Amino acid sequence: QKPVPSDIVISRSCVPKPIDCMAREVGLLSDEVELYGKTKAKVQLSIMKRLQAQPDGKYVVVTGITPTPLGEGKSTTTIGLVQALGAHLKLNVFACVRQPSQGPTFGIKGGAAGGGYSQVIPMEEFNLHLTGDIHAITAANNLVAAAIDARIFHENTQTDKKLGIEKTDPNTLTDEEVTRFAPVPPLLDTNDRFLRKITIGQSPTEKGFTREAQFDITVASEIMAVLALTSSLADMRQRLANMVVATSKSGQPITTEDLGVSGALAVLMRDAIKPNLMQTLEGTPVFVHAGPFANIAHGNSSILADKIALKLVGPEGFVVTEAGFGADIGMEKFFNIKCRYSGLRPHVVVLVATVRALKMHGGGPKVTAGMPLPKEYVEENLELLETGCGNMKKQIENARLFGVPVVVAVNAFKTDTQAELELICSVAKAAGAFDAVRCSHWAEGGAGAVALGQAVQRASESPSDFKFLYDVELPIADKIRIIAQKIYGADDIELLPEAQRKVELYTKQGFGNLPICMAKTHLSLSHDADKKGVPTGFVVPVRDIKASVGAGFLFPLVGTMPTIPGLPTRPCFYDIDLDPETEQVNGLF
Ligand code: ADP
Repeated sequence: QKPVPSDIVISRSCVPKPIDCMAREVGLLSDEVELYGKTKAKVQLSIMKRLQAQPDGKYVVVTGITPTPLGEGKSTTTIGLVQALGAHLKLNVFACVRQPSQGPTFGIKGGAAGGGYSQVIPMEEFNLHLTGDIHAITAANNLVAAAIDARIFHENTQTDKKLGIEKTDPNTLTDEEVTRFAPVPPLLDTNDRFLRKITIGQSPTEKGFTREAQFDITVASEIMAVLALTSSLADMRQRLANMVVATSKSGQPITTEDLGVSGALAVLMRDAIKPNLMQTLEGTPVFVHAGPFANIAHGNSSILADKIALKLVGPEGFVVTEAGFGADIGMEKFFNIKCRYSGLRPHVVVLVATVRALKMHGGGPKVTAGMPLPKEYVEENLELLETGCGNMKKQIENARLFGVPVVVAVNAFKTDTQAELELICSVAKAAGAFDAVRCSHWAEGGAGAVALGQAVQRASESPSDFKFLYDVELPIADKIRIIAQKIYGADDIELLPEAQRKVELYTKQGFGNLPICMAKTHLSLSHDADKKGVPTGFVVPVRDIKASVGAGFLFPLVGTMPTIPGLPTRPCFYDIDLDPETEQVNGLF
């Protein structure tokens, strides 16, 4: 087999179709498209009205087994699958993916355009600023952060309606006030770990408003979640207005609407709400829209992009969307949060599995990004693999809890042996997967995922019986317990004192009926990243619960989850440079 060149070399070797041609090809009218250069365009929401009567296409969600820190190829499989369905099986298709954060792009993971011969192109446009949506979110959020701090500062001299968030002591903030004001963290899209805890308001002009604060990464923010979950401009305006930024002295939630900032937020977000059109290496269409992290946020691309794509492909076509990290995280939130708000019902779950991750679950040595893989991973070892398949079986079971057929995509790496790949397929089928297929789309493009495409087609015609995992009207603790027991395999949950306090507060404030967005490590089914395979006999400790009332969920924090990643010893940015002659970006992957 010929060696596969680097992602950027492959991406650059392909000349993309002009994006206005792509827009026409997928059935968009010229006045529904806003061009951002030659390879990216935004699509106006007016299309939803024009295509109202058009039946939807088939809806497929790509998820995975519990991954290694290297990622097991969900994005690559999403793109490989649409290339197979569109360019090889000649169906109408759309991939709907998240916009990557620059944190991981310059940090550990690199970009998220897929890889090898299954990529969104141009990958440097995709991986870097795109059309500025993440920057818009940063700007909107930081306006809220400034607004709440300034309002507390000025509350005593405020001539408008008082909100009950004035400081009691002019020279300091009490501990109780620090909790009540629940400061909105300012955001940035960079892995700057030193901003995880900072002290702000130290200038004498702030008159004792000094307090501890933190930055979060933009893609973990509530406004990113609002963008992903909204269904229209009016709905986004309302969700932005519903964001709770503090609690008044009398226990009332204070919203961005109360702060008078929600209209300005909608203005800052008015272009970001339009999905971005791009294409794959094989010329099939892609929507790139919203990009929440899956461990500390809900990890799914936008409802609007999925809805528009489902109309554009028509009843015989396929829309393939991706849910972040493993099925216990991104897929659970895809069903229980995203599908609940969108009303859409997926036809098929594609579960990506790899030999290397399953060997890790079978007891293989630690896999570290940037380090060579230990020999267990590059030599045949059926015993280790078979033990590790337990994780895949559990994730198949997790997907089947929602009543949707599961196709396992075994993403083949060049060191995998036939016997290893076959073993995974037979275990998957015995565990209740509708089908399990080896694929080689990373090395061969869509041609390497034709069998997967056919399996997905067949699965989409089989009966499905979709159901949510829990009723939102259940008490908060019960909903968390159901997720922990049924999806993670936990014995129980333990609500630590702060979490218990929040359960009482949110129930009193009327937010008890929101769905749950667990903030948990993606590296284990449990809350402990070191526990591989299928951990049992554990109790999930819920440290705190936050409310994203505007986005529409409560998020319990399990263990310690940094809300801004750090940079490793040798970050990806070491290799990235610009060629001033050709203006080409080098070193991105
Ligand atoms: P995920 O979406 O699951 O995090 P990605 O699709 O982003 O994973 O893939 C992670 C990395 O692994 C990317 O750099 C990608 O190019 C690479 N990769 C994926 N599949 C293969 C494969 N079959 N062989 C070699 N590298 C692969």
